[in-house]
Amino acid sequence: MNEVRLRFAPSPTGHLHVGGARTALFNWLYARKMNGKFILRIEDTDLQRSTKESEKAIIESLKWCGIDWDEGPDVGGDFGPYRQSERVLKGIYDHYARILIDKQMAYYTVYDKSDRKKPILNTYEYPEKYIKEGHDITISFKVPEGTTKFYDLLKGDMEFQNSTIEDFVIIKSDGFPTYNYAVVIDDHLMKITHVFRGEDHLSNTPKQIMIYNALQWETPQFMHIPLILGFDRTPLSKRHGATSVEHFRNIGILNTGLMNYLALLGWSVGEEEIFDVREKIKNFDPSSISNKGVVFDPEKLEWVNGKHMRIMDLKRLWCEFTEWIHFTNKKMPESDEQYALRVMSMCREKVNTLSQLYDFSYPFFFDDYVYEQKFIDEYLKTSYAKDVLENALEYFAQLKDWSIEGTEKVCRSLSNTQIASKNKVFQLLRGVVTGKLVTPGLFETLSVLGRERVILRIKRALSNF
Ligand code: GLU
Repeated sequence: MNEVRLRFAPSPTGHLHVGGARTALFNWLYARKMNGKFILRIEDTDLQRSTKESEKAIIESLKWCGIDWDEGPDVGGDFGPYRQSERVLKGIYDHYARILIDKQMAYYTVYDKSDRKKPILNTYEYPEKYIKEGHDITISFKVPEGTTKFYDLLKGDMEFQNSTIEDFVIIKSDGFPTYNYAVVIDDHLMKITHVFRGEDHLSNTPKQIMIYNALQWETPQFMHIPLILGFDRTPLSKRHGATSVEHFRNIGILNTGLMNYLALLGWSVGEEEIFDVREKIKNFDPSSISNKGVVFDPEKLEWVNGKHMRIMDLKRLWCEFTEWIHFTNKKMPESDEQYALRVMSMCREKVNTLSQLYDFSYPFFFDDYVYEQKFIDEYLKTSYAKDVLENALEYFAQLKDWSIEGTEKVCRSLSNTQIASKNKVFQLLRGVVTGKLVTPGLFETLSVLGRERVILRIKRALSNF
């Protein structure tokens, strides 16, 4: 049996959209499952819209997603992507365009010099004279009569009337190929066996099949996957909020969380909802992909991500956390690992993203946290605050046992002094040592922060009176 070969072929005209990441994931999963090859091809023949920054961002996002590829030009011992713009220079697309012209299945069009959109001649002959005179020349594919059929793994037999499709340009006047043409040449030369892509390409497929047929090439297996939708069931786009992989990375979604959620979008993996996609490679089956549109739910994504944060090894979470802090250029905690892991363990129970973890754990790592306004208004600016804090300072200064039980005892004694209710005392202490009113358990918080920080923070609060 032939080797199974799949590809992801982004156009570098923006960030990697979550829909693109899901397409890449499904192609990658199948390549990995079949012990085949997965390749990355940058489709950058639209010179107006393609940018190097976008290419860089897409590659960075794919790497972050854990989607790796198996071939490509050597870039310092690593595989770079294939780039169509580089293949143009090798004359690859011209070569096959000439073959099509020779077969009279494509033709040159010469345009008027003053009105560059106006065709003045269609010909199978090489229009050398016009080229020398500086006319714009394109090459178009001649759509044959009849019908074009193909089998889609998800949608079954598809049939298009060729009469509904007009001849289309395959080489533009700048010498670059168009998408529908270059994609066929490359998928053939790269021996692609399966093309899984978004349903938005369904109308392109008959044009591509016609080119395969004209060159007498075998077609790959196609699967057109329903698009990811927004809440209003229109294709997910910027109108629904940020949709790039980079955005979700920025807000502190883990790559494992995002990949898990994207796998759930349209693929019925099984009973389990929380998993590492790499462990599901063997289960991946294109026939279990749904042919219905799926709605992107950012809250569900966060929920999935929170689960990942809570089940992952603590050291790994700390590592992911510090990498994310570095990535987002936030202030890096300077902390020994043992302390950091205790903080991670405590704080991850209450958050779903690394960004929430950052805010939530901030007072454990830094002294410059700020008091929430609600804490100031409802607890700090009260008649009892000063007395409670003076007592607290005295009690904590004497405390030897800083275990959770130890700090609990102090908190309970403080609330027994009858200056204020237990709840008020606890919230006051909580706010003083963290700035917040919602934190991990108070006794544990105090225990983890430890003597030095707690005393310093109470003193600092008292200095305001
Ligand atoms: N460059 C195309 C895109 O980004 C690729 C589509 C395909 O997979 O054929 O949409």
